[in-house]
Amino acid sequence: MRLLLAMMKHETNTFSPVPTPLQRFRDWGMHEDRAVVTAYRGTNHPLAAYIDLAAEIGAEIVTPIAAEGMPSGPVSREAYDYLTGRILDALATQGPFDAALLDLHGAMVPDGMTGGEGPLLKRMREIAPGLPIAATFDMHGNMTDEIMANATVVVGYKTYPHVDMYKAGEQCGRIMLRALKGEVTPVIRFGQAGILAQTLRMGSDEEPMQGAIAACLAEEARAGILAASIFGGFPMADIPDAGLSMVVVADAGTGGGHDIGQAACDRLLAYAQATRTDWFHVHHPLDAAVARAKTIADGPVVLLDHADNVGSGGTSDVMTVIAEVLRQGLEGVAMAAVWDPAAVQMMQKAGVGATITLELGGRTAMPSIGLAAKPLTLTGKVRRLSDGEWTVRGPMYTGSRVTAGPTAVFETGGMQIVVTSLHHEPWDAGIFTHIGIDPAHCRYILLKSRVHYRAGFRPFEKHRITLDGDGVTTSDNTRLSYSHLKPGTYPFN
Ligand SMILES: [Zn+2]
Repeated sequence: MRLLLAMMKHETNTFSPVPTPLQRFRDWGMHEDRAVVTAYRGTNHPLAAYIDLAAEIGAEIVTPIAAEGMPSGPVSREAYDYLTGRILDALATQGPFDAALLDLHGAMVPDGMTGGEGPLLKRMREIAPGLPIAATFDMHGNMTDEIMANATVVVGYKTYPHVDMYKAGEQCGRIMLRALKGEVTPVIRFGQAGILAQTLRMGSDEEPMQGAIAACLAEEARAGILAASIFGGFPMADIPDAGLSMVVVADAGTGGGHDIGQAACDRLLAYAQATRTDWFHVHHPLDAAVARAKTIADGPVVLLDHADNVGSGGTSDVMTVIAEVLRQGLEGVAMAAVWDPAAVQMMQKAGVGATITLELGGRTAMPSIGLAAKPLTLTGKVRRLSDGEWTVRGPMYTGSRVTAGPTAVFETGGMQIVVTSLHHEPWDAGIFTHIGIDPAHCRYILLKSRVHYRAGFRPFEKHRITLDGDGVTTSDNTRLSYSHLKPGTYPFN
């Protein structure tokens, strides 16, 4: 047996001013050919599960590329053509293949296109008609008819933070192996709910996502259902397919599989409709929320600067929330992370222990939401410097070597600010511990994150306060202008 394995992942925020050239994939993780296996085997990725399954059955594998970029604006066509080109070339020249097992995101938007994954699958089927294609997608994928028309098996993650990526890959891959043996005949049933659900409300340990996952598991327990997935979707994308959807893979071989699958999909869509008002964040004034944080005596208190979350395409240099926390004089604050390579260079030059005045953050203008670049002038001390690299020990991306680029800790007022040279969402405690800060012993942990931080910081979190600042990952729909959503999309209808 010969299998094509590949990974291509990017969550595109069409409101984000951060560019996405091929280098952005190289910065986070891009491996080709045999290096793919070395980089991903043993990690908590769907691709790692595919590698293990292939080894289990003694299949030959071809691994042209595995690439993931930190979320940002539309993917350059050059990058998209390179990534997809590697997969399509391998399919055309290194086959024939019995199947393809893909590790995709589902929210990639290349420049001038409305989605990246559907066209890839379509072109794969053009090169190899009838090729069985199994693909995992991120829970934040915006699923499309084109994806479903050109895939054999589709499985999404059931956790957010995404700590079950390997498990999803294993589920997806095993269904495909059973199909190849003729044990099952997968058929996909898909429905969009017409709800532009907000990421901030998709944590799988809270409602309404907890109930949605339970509903998917209940469907999977039924006879004839091979997989049932909810895709919360990615709302920071002004494209027709943005929003919440359900995908069911049923076994057509059992007889009535199409109907069983459709009924399951309909039940899941009914759950989405019944909970539709619950998928939206309720806003609070920033100054009052910080004042409330100040009254909490026992920490750590997690403070979420969620509107500037690079994990959803934020610029990670908006200073609004940091400025307010400093203004109100909170003490014992560990903050991660401000993206500012120039400030890191300045601190490297000044050296550890130096007191300096610098303009921090505010390097990036956000024309899509009418915000100018606005740095904050601060005086403080350079506490530590690092190369910004560590191996993840937490539950998400476990075992992966990650880098935030050259990094420094700047101490000002009651706050230690981790400043990075690459965009990095703080979902692992390593962002602090690798540079000598123990978050367990901080009164406040201020994070530019929304939900993924729970992977690494839940053990420390005694309280959580959501701080509604500025940025291109805002959950305030009045600040975003959509013009390409399908008519009638809730809550815009
Ligand atoms: Zn996601």
